[in-house]
Amino acid sequence: MARPVSTPELVIDLDAVADAYRGIAAALPGIAVHYATKCNPHPDVLRRLHALGSRFEIASAAELELLETLGVAPGEVLYSNPVKPVAHIARAFATGVWRFAFDSHDEIAKLAQVAPGAAVVVRLAAPRTRSDVPSEGKFGVDPEQAVELVLAARARGLRPYGVAFHVGSQMLAPDAWSRPLRAVGWLMERLAEHGVRLSMVDLGGGFPARYAASPLPLAEYAAVIEAGLAGLPYGVEAVIEPGRAVVAEAGTLVASVIGTALRGGARWAHLDVGAFNGLMESLETGNRLRFPVRDSRDSAQRDRFHLTGPTCDSQDTILFDVELSADLSVGDHVYLGSTGAYTTVYASHFNGFAPPTVRCVSGQAAPGRGALVGAPPGQ
Ligand SMILES: *Cc1c(COP(=O)(O)O)cnc(C)c1O
Repeated sequence: MARPVSTPELVIDLDAVADAYRGIAAALPGIAVHYATKCNPHPDVLRRLHALGSRFEIASAAELELLETLGVAPGEVLYSNPVKPVAHIARAFATGVWRFAFDSHDEIAKLAQVAPGAAVVVRLAAPRTRSDVPSEGKFGVDPEQAVELVLAARARGLRPYGVAFHVGSQMLAPDAWSRPLRAVGWLMERLAEHGVRLSMVDLGGGFPARYAASPLPLAEYAAVIEAGLAGLPYGVEAVIEPGRAVVAEAGTLVASVIGTALRGGARWAHLDVGAFNGLMESLETGNRLRFPVRDSRDSAQRDRFHLTGPTCDSQDTILFDVELSADLSVGDHVYLGSTGAYTTVYASHFNGFAPPTVRCVSGQAAPGRGALVGAPPGQ
């Protein structure tokens, strides 16, 4: 049996968060970083990022209120959700948020009513490219419609301020930013013909984290983005809104084996965490998000397991064909790496299984963290 710890527990290494933030900021000099709060809104994570100089991106008034309790100035927060409840807009505007995303006439009407004169950022659709977590397709308009919307916003007294897009989460192809940036350039030229000059281009999130395999270096992303920005008709402030790339690798989920079984020749390991109480992205990605996995037994003799959750619903399976200790038993711990992003925030109590408790650590190694770096064999 492993050391006594109440599982499931998500351990977040705040130093790893800081390292990731600094790496992104250094790779993209001159570009303001607005961390996407939704990805992991643990107060300790937000506090550390704030101390490092990160700015923030929000999707709701509740996220803003959380940031305010930590001393974040609302004027530096981007409200990038294109469709917002009117009460949230009013609350944010009254507090000092002044930049709001939109991609519809309904949103223009709401903003003009409760945030008169606000700066608005039109959301462009990004073409579907290879992304491991299909998150896009809901928001954004084509460039022609964006021109029309920006002019309509101006006519309602709003201030045309910027253009935004999001290429899709865990984007493994750096060139995913080049086509949207060409569309941004086209939009800027058309708007200039109408006397509109934009101040900001928001390159969104989508920067990848390392799961079982390493993504391309951030420098390759930076090269594409720098070339795209250089091709714009005039200079604008550029910002990014990374979420996953900042926090994913900092998280290690410690789970317990609650049972193993042999079914139809396949070995199953059931954990006290699954898709519904913490690993929703397993379900979202069709089990393609390969969290690096180890176990506390660490035996030389290996075997393949299907790793699944505690509920009676077969949808809570985490990974198929994972290599673990052949003698894996009830009570052993399984460590799932790169679980700092989109885990606890998505969790429900389905079937009565509680989400992981969260423990932030700093100045020490998180359990299994060193061992989870890189791809374990068989992943
Ligand atoms: C979720 C989200 C992000 C963060 O995306 P990642 O893929 O986690 O980097 C950034 N911007 C907006 C508008 C978002 O909705």
